[in-house]
Amino acid sequence: MTVLAADPVKEKASAQKTWVFLFDELDKVEATAKPKDWEDVRSLLGGKGANLFEMTRLGLPVPPGFTVTTEACNGYLAANHEFPTGMWDQEVVAMHEVERKVGKTFGDPKNPLFVSCRSGAKFSMPGMMDTVLNIGLNDETAKGMIELTGDPRFVYDSYRRLIQMFGSVVMGVADEPFEEAIAEQKKKRGVRHDVELTAEDWQALVEKFKTLVKAYKSQEFPQDPYKQLEMATRAVFNSWFGKRAIDYRNATNISHDLGTAVNIVTMVFGNMGNDSATGVAFTRNPADGTKELYGDYLINAQGEDVVAGIRNTLPIMQLKQDMPDAFNQFLEIVTKLENHFQDMQDVEFTIERKKLWMLQTRNGKRTARAAIKMAVDMNNEGLITKKQAIGRVTPEQVDQLLHPQFSAEIKKSASKEGRRLVSKAVNASPGAAVGMAVFDADTAAEWGKAGKAVIMVRPETKPDDVHGMIAAKGILTSRGGATSHAAVVARQFGTPAVCGAEELAIDVDHRIFQVHIDDKLVEVREGEWISLDGGTGEVFLGQLPTQDPDFDNEVELNTLLKWADEVRKLGVWANADYPKDAVRARRYGAEGIGLCRTEHMFFEEERLPIVQEMIMATSKARRLSALERLLPVQRGDFEGIFRAMDGNPVIIRLLDPPLHEFLPSFHDLVADLADLKVRLQHFHTLSEIDTALGQVRAKEDVLSRVKALSESNPMLGLRGDRLSVVMPEITEMQVRAILEAAVRVKREGIDVHPEIMVPLAGHVNELKYIKEIVDRVAAEVFAESGTTVDFKYGSMVEVPRAALTADELAEVAEFYSFGTNDLTQTTFGMSRDDAESKFLLEYTEKGLLPSNPFQQLDRGGVGKLIKMTVELGRATRPEMHMGICGEHGGDPNSIEFCHLAGLNYVSCSPYRVPIARLAAAQAAIKHS
Ligand code: ADP
Ligand code: MG
Ligand code: MG
Repeated sequence: MTVLAADPVKEKASAQKTWVFLFDELDKVEATAKPKDWEDVRSLLGGKGANLFEMTRLGLPVPPGFTVTTEACNGYLAANHEFPTGMWDQEVVAMHEVERKVGKTFGDPKNPLFVSCRSGAKFSMPGMMDTVLNIGLNDETAKGMIELTGDPRFVYDSYRRLIQMFGSVVMGVADEPFEEAIAEQKKKRGVRHDVELTAEDWQALVEKFKTLVKAYKSQEFPQDPYKQLEMATRAVFNSWFGKRAIDYRNATNISHDLGTAVNIVTMVFGNMGNDSATGVAFTRNPADGTKELYGDYLINAQGEDVVAGIRNTLPIMQLKQDMPDAFNQFLEIVTKLENHFQDMQDVEFTIERKKLWMLQTRNGKRTARAAIKMAVDMNNEGLITKKQAIGRVTPEQVDQLLHPQFSAEIKKSASKEGRRLVSKAVNASPGAAVGMAVFDADTAAEWGKAGKAVIMVRPETKPDDVHGMIAAKGILTSRGGATSHAAVVARQFGTPAVCGAEELAIDVDHRIFQVHIDDKLVEVREGEWISLDGGTGEVFLGQLPTQDPDFDNEVELNTLLKWADEVRKLGVWANADYPKDAVRARRYGAEGIGLCRTEHMFFEEERLPIVQEMIMATSKARRLSALERLLPVQRGDFEGIFRAMDGNPVIIRLLDPPLHEFLPSFHDLVADLADLKVRLQHFHTLSEIDTALGQVRAKEDVLSRVKALSESNPMLGLRGDRLSVVMPEITEMQVRAILEAAVRVKREGIDVHPEIMVPLAGHVNELKYIKEIVDRVAAEVFAESGTTVDFKYGSMVEVPRAALTADELAEVAEFYSFGTNDLTQTTFGMSRDDAESKFLLEYTEKGLLPSNPFQQLDRGGVGKLIKMTVELGRATRPEMHMGICGEHGGDPNSIEFCHLAGLNYVSCSPYRVPIARLAAAQAAIKHS
C-alpha cells in the first residue's frame, strides 16, 4: 500500500475493476463506484443486494455474504458468457473473507460453510429468477454436518433441496420428476406430509435425486462446492435472458439492459428443529394498507416453503407466543426499517435455533387501495411529505380503485338467482372479477388475447404461469395464502385474486373443479362463468353484475387528490356529452367541460328521423322546418349540462359530421330496393302497384342522397366546420340552442359560461365566416330575451394548417383546444382505424414507433405542432386559454407533456378525471 499519493494514471492501469463487494463494504462501493445516489447503488448491486448492504450498515443481523455486481453480469453476457477478467478470483477471495467471518470453511467436512445463491435485479421481479439454497453440500460435507448437528433428517432434507433446486434452476431438469419422487416416497410410507418423512426417507431421496439429474442431463450433480458456486453464478447471469424474465420485463416496462446481480449469502437454517422457523412479513397490510404486521411463517422449514404454498402457514402474530424473544427483536427491526426507508417494507427472515436473521427487505408491493391509504397515513404520521405521498401512488392505481365492484345487495341476492357463493377464502388481491374458468396459463393467455374474460383457476401458481395471470381478469387458487406466488403477482398487476379456496377440488388434467353446495357435488368446467371478490375472498358461480365504486366515500383517495390539486398547474376538465356525464365529471373533480359533442344528441331514437329529414331536405325551407323541431331538443340538452356544471365553463363543439352516418347504409338501401322490386311483380291492383312504386321512389331518393354524400376519403371530406360553410342554417340553429339555453339557465340564477367551438378549422377565413353567424344569432337571442350571457368563441386545432397559422387564427379565436386524435391522424397522414387494424402494431413491435401515437401523444411530431401553436397563439393573444381534449387527456405520459407545453388544462373522460388530477400533480412535482 502506498501512503503517498500515487501516480493516478499508473494506478488506474494497474487497478483491477471491482466486480465483487462484501455486504459490509458499502463504503468501498461508494468510494470506488462513486454512485450519485441510492438509485445508482441499486443499479450496481441490484435491489436485494443494495438493501442487504444497507441493513448490514444499520447493524442488523444479516448473514455475512457478498454481491457480484450487475456490471459483471452485463460484462459476462456481452462477452459470450465469459466471466469478466478477475471476477471469479474476486469471488473466491470474498468467499474466504466470509469463511473468516463465520469461522467455517466452504467444502470442509469438519466445519462446513453453506451459502445461498440469489439473483437480484435493480427492480424486484418476484419469482422471476430462482434462488439456490444450501450450496456447499455434498456427500462429504453432509456427513460432517450430521456429526456436527446430530440431525441426519435435517441434513438430508437440506441436501435433497440443493440437488432439486440446483437440478432445476442451474442444470435445467424439470421440477416434476423430483416432486413425483417425493410423492412416491410418501405413498410408500403411507404418510401425507413432507414433515412426516424420516431421515432415511430423505437419504433415499438424495440418492434418487442424484440419479434423476444424471438421467435427465447425462451429467453428475457436481460434488465440488466451488464448481457448484461457479455454475450457480452463471445460471443467475443467464436467467436475465430467460423467457420468464423477458416476459415480466415486457409486461412491466423494465429495461432489458440492466442485468442482475448475484448475492451469495451464508445459509441460516429455519429447518433445524422446532426452535427454528422461516417467514415473510409486511410492515403494513399490503391488501388494504392498515398499519399492522402482516405475514406468515412456518416452524422447522426452509426458505421457499412459505411462499410455495405447500404447507399451510401460521399468521405472523402467532410468533409472539411461539418465540417471544425473537418476535420482539423482529418487531423492533422492522419498525426501524420502515422508518429508515420511509416506506412499507416486505421482509424475509429466518430463525435458526432461536437466533433471528434478516434475509431481505424491500419496499413492499401493494394494492391500489393500500398504496393510497399508506401514502395518506404516512403523511399524517409525519413520515413523508405531501409531495412524497403524491408520488407513492401511480395513476394506474387510481384507475384500479375506480374499477367496477360487486354491490352488497347483489351478493346477498346471489344465492337466489343460481349464482351461488361457493367459497370464502383468502382475500389476496381486491377487486371484482367475472370470467370464464380456465385451468392453465397458456389457455388463459390465448383466450385473453381473443378478448375473452377469463379467470385462471389453479391449485397454486408458479413463475411459469405469469403470462396467463397477466391475461386473466382474476386468479383463483385452492392452496397458499396471502404471500403465495399467486397473491404477490396478482397484487402487483392489480388483478383480483382469491387464494387458498380449499373447498374447491381442482382437477387441472380434466379441466374442471368440483365443489359441494348443500351436500350436492357441483362441477364447473372450462369456459363456465365464475365471479370473484378479491376484497372479501368470496367465490361465486355464474356471472355477478358489477357496479361503479362509491367515489365520494373513498376518503383517503379524496384526501390525496386534494393534495394533488394543491400542487398541479394544469386544470382538469372532462369530456361530457350528456348531463349525467357532466354530473359524474363534477363529482370526480372536473373544473369544466372541455368537449361537449353534439353528434350523439342527434343519434337518439326520437331525434334521428328529424335529423334524417333535415339531411334529405332538397330545399332550404324544408331543412329549416326540420331544424326548427330540433332546436328545443338541443336546447334542453344544453340546459341540463349548464345546470350540472354550475358556473364552470362548458365548451360546446358545433356539429362535426360525417352526415352519411345518420342515413341507412348504401348496402341496406340497395338490398331493400331489390326486395321491393321483386315484390312489385306480384301485385295486381293498380293501387297496390301505386303505393309500392311510391316506396321505391322514396328509397331511391334516399339512395341517391347517400350516393351524393358518399366520399372517397371521408376522413378528409365534408367534416368539421366545412358543414357550416355548406349548410349554415345548421350552425345557426345550434348557436341559438346554446345561447337560449344559457339565457334560461342564467335566469334560474346559475352562472353560465358557454364556449362555442369550431371543429377542424384550418384557415382564419373559416373562423371569420362562422363568427359572423355566431355574432348575428347572439345579437338576436339577446335582443329577444333582453338578457345577455358571457360567451367565448374558439377553435379546435386538429389539422397542421391550424397549428402553422395559429397566430392568424388567434385574431378571431379566443381559445384553442387540441383535438389530438385528429391532429395525430392528420400529422401522420394515417387514419386511426386503418392504422390500428392494419399496420400500427408492426410499427411498435419493430420499434419504428416507441408506442401507439393514438394512445401516447407523439411528442416529437404532434407535440411540436402543439408547442408551435402555443407560441404563435399567445404571440397574438397573450393570455390565450388552451387545452387538450381527446383520449390523450387521460394518459399520464401525455399529461406530463401538456404540463411542459404550458397548456392550461387537459380534458378527458369523466372516469379518468381523478387519474389526470394525480398525473398532473406528479408532472408538476417532477418538473418543479
Ligand atoms: P426471491 O427473490 O424469490 O424471494 P430469495 O433469494 O429471496 O428469492 O430467496 C428465496 C427464499 O430463500 C426466501 O425465502 C429467502 O428468505 C430464502 N433464503 C435465501 N437465502 C437464504 C439463506 N442464506 N439462508 C436461509 N434462507 C435463505
Ligand atoms: Mg424465488
Ligand atoms: Mg426474497
